[in-house]
Amino acid sequence: MSKYNFCAGPAMLPPAVMKKAQQEFIDWQGLGVSVMEMSHRSKEFLALTKKCEASLRRLMNISDEFEVLFMHGGGRGQFSAVPLNLHQENKSAVYCENGVWSKSATDEANKFTQTTAIDVRNDTDGQFSIKAVADWQLPADASYIHYCPNETVDGLEIFDVPSHPTAPIIADMSSTILSREIDVNQFDLIYAGAQKNIGPSGIAIVIVRKTLLAREGLPKPGILDYALEAKQGSMFNTPPTFAWYLAAEVFQWLEQNGGVKAMEAQNIAKAELLYNFIDNSDFYSNKVAKHSRSRMNVPFWLNDESLNSKFVAQSNEAGLLALEGHRIVGGMRASIYNAMPLEGVQALVDFMAAFAKENS
Ligand code: PLP
Repeated sequence: MSKYNFCAGPAMLPPAVMKKAQQEFIDWQGLGVSVMEMSHRSKEFLALTKKCEASLRRLMNISDEFEVLFMHGGGRGQFSAVPLNLHQENKSAVYCENGVWSKSATDEANKFTQTTAIDVRNDTDGQFSIKAVADWQLPADASYIHYCPNETVDGLEIFDVPSHPTAPIIADMSSTILSREIDVNQFDLIYAGAQKNIGPSGIAIVIVRKTLLAREGLPKPGILDYALEAKQGSMFNTPPTFAWYLAAEVFQWLEQNGGVKAMEAQNIAKAELLYNFIDNSDFYSNKVAKHSRSRMNVPFWLNDESLNSKFVAQSNEAGLLALEGHRIVGGMRASIYNAMPLEGVQALVDFMAAFAKENS
């Protein structure tokens, strides 16, 4: 029986990558040691890091105006790093809030800098949605504008990019990076925890405009200091070497499989299949307005919630793993990142149809 893992993160990685990693686990490149057991400053590992960065630059079309950093501390590490590096005296950092993660980012930033939170949700009649970015009431001046293009828990995605005449635009792309084409030049800093579309948890990717590195910010730990990490090639201290290795493998897999453009086409097809099924069912529902629906995280509810635990148990037995919704919002959630094939979503839809028939 094929098993499909719908976990929101740490999430399913491409099976081909996992197989190769397994083969290389104890003997990488014939060196007689694992990539985890060698110096991060060895010529072999340095070559890996160069290859990894070049691959990400090609995949996302990242110009020389940006530095690419591989940092510790996942997404939340960046919740702290952003205000610590980008704080400006007498200015407020603007946090656009559209769900659980963007609100957590505000809470963390509040420890270090003055923030202004802006609610960009537009919920009406029990339907969740996001205001058009043109209607976000951004103040004339700010140290930076932070937002989360894909709210992993709430299942809300923002496809437009906000702009501001002076303040840099910062995006937490933890659960949307590499899932669709974006123009990196519309941003000043993009960050992402790796454990959805990139690799193992712990490592974070930061794509930062070089001009921003001149900001002094606040006193900060070295491992969260963008300028220092840029100067040190993301090796101020020992980096998470295995996670970096696996990220390089995932990027190579992406390039070999048509890059972000091909992923986006597949992600649209997967999301359409699942949302169309839910919309045409009177057994399940999704509460997000069509224009704000996430392509990566699809929350859904059984109209009869007393069947929830039966659904979770039986889907698990059918090889459809980790469908229970986030504890904050309840219901179910299917995370369908890049590594999830269309067949996995089809298997889920088939199961949902059969479950609905048996329990109606
Ligand atoms: N931001 C978003 C959008 C997330 O989905 C997550 C985790 O799932 C985080 C931040 C936090 O990431 P981490 O657990 O790596 O700190």
